[in-house]
Amino acid sequence: AANGALLTVAGLEAWYGESHILHGVDFHVRPGEVVTLLGRNGAGKTTTLKSVMGMIGKRSGSIRFDGAETIRLTSDRIARAGIALCPEERGIFASLDVKENLTLPPVVRPGGLSLDQIFELFPNLKERLGSQGTKLSGGEQQMLAIGRILRTGARLLMLDEPTEGLAPVIIQQIGRTIARLKQSGFTILLVEQNFRWASKVADRFYVMEHGRVVDGFASADLEANKQKLQDYLGV
Ligand code: ATP
Repeated sequence: AANGALLTVAGLEAWYGESHILHGVDFHVRPGEVVTLLGRNGAGKTTTLKSVMGMIGKRSGSIRFDGAETIRLTSDRIARAGIALCPEERGIFASLDVKENLTLPPVVRPGGLSLDQIFELFPNLKERLGSQGTKLSGGEQQMLAIGRILRTGARLLMLDEPTEGLAPVIIQQIGRTIARLKQSGFTILLVEQNFRWASKVADRFYVMEHGRVVDGFASADLEANKQKLQDYLGV
């Protein structure tokens, strides 16, 4: 792409039925970056990830991935282009065991991690291989939800609030995992409420308000932007 980005979102608008939710969202993610979307509840962060994944029926504007326009593609085609979403609700099937859950999403491209590579990242999952989804802790469910998108061959991983409801030690582990994934060449787009944690794992932030991106800065500039950020987030 002209700007060297892997993902470029420009003028993105999205609707749920008659409700106009996104009003021209602009941001980009370069290859190998970890970028976080911040903003208050209802700002449109989840809707932005779902739009990139093609899961919002009514959307307009431009979403370029790896140089190609995807705004009119189905979510299936977008997955095959190399984008995966790990949703906020995690989507673990209670009646399936860990291995069945892991191997559920189809492998869409070469380059995905093997099960052994996933177990190396998440040793707990290997120990729980035959356990049903319902028997897993929240942390194990989150690891399973991330692990299974690593199998698919996606290059851009979108994680919606991966730390939500988890214990501090698990949150740290997820932070280390994201750092390793970045080192292995994955590009990661996060939605996160916990901006202190996010500032350790992300290269850059964007702030969303009322369905638009209203600000952006590098993690290195977090301190200088702290007051402004607290005002945006109301913390
Ligand atoms: P949160 O942290 O609460 O998920 P968010 O920034 O991710 O916040 P979205 O989930 O994208 O926000 O929601 C943006 C707006 O869209 C909110 O006003 C929300 O009420 C509305 N919305 C979300 N999902 C739906 C839906 N399925 N139908 C109608 N409106 C929705």
